[in-house]
Amino acid sequence: MFALLHSLSPSIRWITFLRSQVRTKGNMATRLSTFGYVLAWLALGISSPCLAQKSKLAASIEQRGMESWTAAKQIWEWAEPGYQEHKSSKLLADLLERHGFQVERGVAEIPTAFTATFGSGAPVIGILGEYDALPGLSQQAVPTREPRQSGGYGHGCGHHLFGVASASAAIAIAEQLRAGEIRGTVRFYGCPAEEGGVPRSSWCSPALQRLRYSIALASR
Ligand SMILES: [Zn+2]
Repeated sequence: MFALLHSLSPSIRWITFLRSQVRTKGNMATRLSTFGYVLAWLALGISSPCLAQKSKLAASIEQRGMESWTAAKQIWEWAEPGYQEHKSSKLLADLLERHGFQVERGVAEIPTAFTATFGSGAPVIGILGEYDALPGLSQQAVPTREPRQSGGYGHGCGHHLFGVASASAAIAIAEQLRAGEIRGTVRFYGCPAEEGGVPRSSWCSPALQRLRYSIALASR
């Protein structure tokens, strides 16, 4: 049996590592790639006995770095509130579809929730991603506090990065599945309204259990 990790309970080391990366000097594209790489590495490291694929994961994520960065900046610009992330969820769903994933939109009767699946059989690696903007965090893309709209929605929490990085991690794993280097399934869970609405722990958990995942990972 594979370990079952709840989306809201990542390990202390995971949190510490991510925070250290966020605080590290460097451009945002590099940090975005790091998020994606760590997620992908954890997924394979925990669920696959083969640890020799890490360099390929890193190369895959780096190779798509600009595509990921462009997507993250677009989601930042849209800054859509929870349950209204129509453009942001479509961007991520379309991205995964272009990379060969089977996409199911509007899952759990939520229009902006979706799953994207690649591969078949066990283990099933679940990766959760969010894309909702939060009230009061409207912000220009500058390092000082400059709201685009006073009191408006924005991505100060970083959901524009988390969703894209998670999708990039899923794509990197899918490439290894496609190459026959590992076996199983990777499934991305597009989780709307991660804060302020029904959190992903509420709607994703039943969905995850119904879909019989082996492990689920989320950035936080
Ligand atoms: Zn958040």
